[in-house]
Amino acid sequence: MRAKDFWQNIYRESDPFISARRIAKKVKSSSKKALASNDSANSAVKYIWIHVTGEGLQHEPSAEQTLSTEEWLNIIDESAALGAEWMVIYVGSTLAQHPEVWQLCDWAQTAHGLHVGLHLSNSCLSESDIEHLGQLDLEKTYLIGQEKTLDSLRFLSTLGVKLCDSKVCLDDQAGPCSSPEAMACVAPDGTLYSCGFVLGNNDFTLGDARGEILAGVMSDDSLPRKVDTSSVPHHHGCDACPPHIAHRIIGNLASNS
Ligand code: SF4
Repeated sequence: MRAKDFWQNIYRESDPFISARRIAKKVKSSSKKALASNDSANSAVKYIWIHVTGEGLQHEPSAEQTLSTEEWLNIIDESAALGAEWMVIYVGSTLAQHPEVWQLCDWAQTAHGLHVGLHLSNSCLSESDIEHLGQLDLEKTYLIGQEKTLDSLRFLSTLGVKLCDSKVCLDDQAGPCSSPEAMACVAPDGTLYSCGFVLGNNDFTLGDARGEILAGVMSDDSLPRKVDTSSVPHHHGCDACPPHIAHRIIGNLASNS
């Protein structure tokens, strides 16, 4: 399997995925049980929104608090077991500073067939980054960023890399946003939030991905699943929100076919 060989060459470990696989099996079994229970209807995850770095966010955990690569892989496994199809990874610094991102993308695609979006805060891509990008399934890979960032990356389109505007405006939406209902949004320290708009806001904390089974969190009706964007004073905005990005990409594909 290309992905395994690729990452083994990089990390020189016997099998960096053994632990993730073991936990995935356990989680899939727990998730099946949760899905079979009465509240299973609410436990589905369609979108994963992970923030591997705190740079550029109000919520900036220290480096010691941030999740390890294996913990991120476990979250991807748990989410996939609950039905996730799309993943957006926010990278607040350069990709070169976070090489683990490539492993997460590769694993999400090869093990679970997820569509993967990399939300970039800048256009700094090294040759090595572009090489890693080329190792991914480009049919299911998107670079997401602001218009000026994408403008600098247009040359990648010729290599088959898809670019997607990160801007999400809710002006035309009335009432609280219910998009968080099918979303696992994880901060760099593993805290789960309703969505990226309220990242770091304790009123919208759902739990701790390090210590809790995601199926249980997603099926807990007492947790905040709707976000009224007009009443949250300090927020991160909605840019790159996975359901909106997925909708945009699907719409673009339909109009191009
Ligand atoms: S980020 Fe914005 S659009 Fe996305 S779920 Fe939150 S409030 Fe809704």
